[in-house]
Amino acid sequence: MAYQDEKLDEEKVFKDPVHRYIHVRDRIIWDLVSTAEFQRLRRIKQLGTTFYTFHGAEHSRFNHSLGVYEIVRRILENFKGQTYWDEEERILCLCAALLHDLGHGPYSHSFEKVFDLDHEDFTRAIILGDTEVNQILRKVSDQFPQDVADVIHKTYSNKLVVSLISSQIDADRMDYLQRDAYFTGVSYGHFDMERILRVMRPKEDQVVIKESGMHAVEDYIMSRYQMYWQVYFHPVTRSAEVILSKILHRARDLFFSSDYAFEFEPKHFESFFHKDVSLKDYLKLDENVVMYYFHTWQEESDEILADLCRRFINRDLFKYIEFNPGTQYRELMDLKESFIEAGIDPSYYLEMDSSSDLPYDFYRPGEEEERLPIHLQLPSGELKELSRQSEIVEAISGKKRTDHKLYYAKDLIHELPDDSKAKQRILEILKG
Ligand code: CA
Repeated sequence: MAYQDEKLDEEKVFKDPVHRYIHVRDRIIWDLVSTAEFQRLRRIKQLGTTFYTFHGAEHSRFNHSLGVYEIVRRILENFKGQTYWDEEERILCLCAALLHDLGHGPYSHSFEKVFDLDHEDFTRAIILGDTEVNQILRKVSDQFPQDVADVIHKTYSNKLVVSLISSQIDADRMDYLQRDAYFTGVSYGHFDMERILRVMRPKEDQVVIKESGMHAVEDYIMSRYQMYWQVYFHPVTRSAEVILSKILHRARDLFFSSDYAFEFEPKHFESFFHKDVSLKDYLKLDENVVMYYFHTWQEESDEILADLCRRFINRDLFKYIEFNPGTQYRELMDLKESFIEAGIDPSYYLEMDSSSDLPYDFYRPGEEEERLPIHLQLPSGELKELSRQSEIVEAISGKKRTDHKLYYAKDLIHELPDDSKAKQRILEILKG
């Protein structure tokens, strides 16, 4: 029997708080879960620094990846025997769903920004490179690893397959919204997924939704909108991210400075600092390793690095105020000057951060986050783009909302002597 058709003697199940059970019958899926690269995802949190805001949010990318696999598995159960669906694509879809986040590193968001990396490049490298995952995929055929990588990178020829993993309503989003809602404990993020799964239909080049399921989809879009603003862009989470980025900046600056000697050398970070990260180095750095460094660096003789690490470990975060960098540019410059005058380095203790989201984007070709729009299938068989049919979705379509915050180390300002002119100016601008 061909490897991709092999079944386990007995079905394996993972108990899951969101989907209750995750079912595995295919040997290849079980083998992929058991690889070192997939197991590594247990040590990468799904929501990075969000646990500093919502203490339950310690769930991992391992949990999420299994969840996406399970959703795709259920969708494909319903697709069996339907026109446009080719059962030969089943295993490919399941593998792509399981492996779609494989290249995420520790605290991806901050690491990618500071070191100019893209986790998608590493996903591709793990699937195509000298790894346990690659060896398993190769057992299907020499071409198979490339097919899996193509589905994840949206370049695969069968767009129906791509739209299962990445579109405006895909298995990835359906899992993370529910999972993140569950683990943060917020009341947003819930929608009737069972209903959506029942009204999904395969078409030539995309998954469409029967019109009768429109209200369930509206609910999904709204829950996504609320999760972004209530959870994903939470200002406290961003404060922890700011500190994390500052630690990485400081460690890199010290590494390249000729007159600083680390007591605890940043071995695992060296190739990141040099912007020459091999796959092997990348896989060695998970969040447990990062936390060990930060913990140890609290004892470094460099005061800024030690202080930033202490802040991150003990959740002693920066405070923030609303700040518009467009209209308040002058104030920002004044603040920087006053920080320097007061002996507080603004490049580590003052930071502008902006977040923005498009709640539902029907068509914006060429944009970074470009995803396929949602199409409803009317009883006549005609397809209509969702925002043309739903007034609720139309109202929030393509509207970008941006939120600007200025982060700063409030405690350091308050420690300055009261007669300090710089302190008075800073407090005036920051209003306390
Ligand atoms: Ca994902």
